[in-house]
Amino acid sequence: MSGRAELTTTSPEGTRAVGAALAALLVPGDVVSLTGDLGAGKTCFVQGAAGALGVTEGVASPSFVLVREYRGVLPIYHMDVYRLDRIQEVLDLGFEDLLDPQGVIFIEWGSAIEGLLPDSHIEVELLTGEQETQRRVVLTARGPGWAERWERLLSSLESWRAA
Ligand code: ADP
Ligand code: MG
Repeated sequence: MSGRAELTTTSPEGTRAVGAALAALLVPGDVVSLTGDLGAGKTCFVQGAAGALGVTEGVASPSFVLVREYRGVLPIYHMDVYRLDRIQEVLDLGFEDLLDPQGVIFIEWGSAIEGLLPDSHIEVELLTGEQETQRRVVLTARGPGWAERWERLLSSLESWRAA
């Protein structure tokens, strides 16, 4: 299965709300890969998602650790593989072994390790727009794990769908 949705947000709160809407449909074992330039809003999206999953502490980009873990309604892992040494670390440790089947993981710059991601995962691409606070958010869901959730996700994102 492969589904694609194009959304537009006009504020950081909007991007957080989209993250929260996605989070509502996540299940243990889910992998969310985020792509987009520096400052596009990847961390912002994860903040919204983590908040919706019950994380009350602040979510910042993981800079000094490979993976940061949060406790919400389930374990939430946040990883950033922007740096080449991070990618190497993932390769050395084995991505599979980093995954907690009980938790969900958000990976900034996840496309850098695309080949290591499980068949079922969702990709969030953030693109800056003409306006300073405008972002295009392109969601691509792949694999059987998303088939029965996709329509529900689309309806929950209706207000951000591009016209
Ligand atoms: P990244 O993790 O992709 O490098 P961040 O989430 O850290 O990006 O930063 C995004 C920046 O862009 C923040 O300063 C945020 O306030 C700003 N911003 C402005 N408009 C938006 C928007 N619509 N969505 C997300 N972030 C936005
Ligand atoms: Mg970031």
